[in-house]
Amino acid sequence: MRIIDAHSHCWIRPGSADASPARELVEEMDRFGIEKSLVLSTRTNLETLKISAFDPKRLFPVASAHPAGNLDSDLRAVEENAGKFKAIKLYPGYEPFYPSQPICEPVYEFAERVGLPVLFHSGDFASPSGRLKYAHPLHVDEVAVQHPDLRIVICHFGNPWIEDAAEIASKNENVFLDLSGLTGPPTKYSDRYFEHLARQVSGAIYYIGDAGKVLFGSDRPTTRVEDAIRLVEKLDVDEADRKLIFYENAENLFFKPRGE
Ligand SMILES: [Zn+2]
Repeated sequence: MRIIDAHSHCWIRPGSADASPARELVEEMDRFGIEKSLVLSTRTNLETLKISAFDPKRLFPVASAHPAGNLDSDLRAVEENAGKFKAIKLYPGYEPFYPSQPICEPVYEFAERVGLPVLFHSGDFASPSGRLKYAHPLHVDEVAVQHPDLRIVICHFGNPWIEDAAEIASKNENVFLDLSGLTGPPTKYSDRYFEHLARQVSGAIYYIGDAGKVLFGSDRPTTRVEDAIRLVEKLDVDEADRKLIFYENAENLFFKPRGE
């Protein structure tokens, strides 16, 4: 099965050779048969660009935008490297803002102008310092309604607000959901939680009635790639839909000119 990872993380570690994290990522992609990865970093956009340049046919940078930070320089990096970035990500909750706040408007206007999708962190965090009230997927609805031409991805399926996220994607034609980072760290109930998650996500897809809204993502290295793949394999959907989730939806959203 062909796979695009719509949500992987990679950054240059202090003291490590610049290319080694990118090489590790590509080796991991080879191991799991992943053709292309969208590369996210919470650090600078130029660093993400540099990592992705290691294998420009397979690694595609996603820019970060920090509405309360130096937004001009975030967006300038995208503008000056036209055609290289595949999306722009916002981190509500990791940073204290709601997606519907006016400070985010310049990002949406920019993304619409250059035709890039916007990704939102959503739901649970990798760190307890995150603020959940900002990260509830419900806040994305307002953005989707006000910007019908902006294509939006709610990351992590809004977990644990999976049904809420499904409703937002069901209601708004321009909203998609990624499956990254759902499986979580091991606990004594990991196996049962995994079964529960697969049922929950399958149910969300039935509610939407369209697997065309759902993208495979790993959130590596926080989540193990093999667990993320196993989750999609476990979903109770037909094989045509599994292909959409693993590959075709991301291909359409990030790699094809709009309208094709
Ligand atoms: Zn992530």
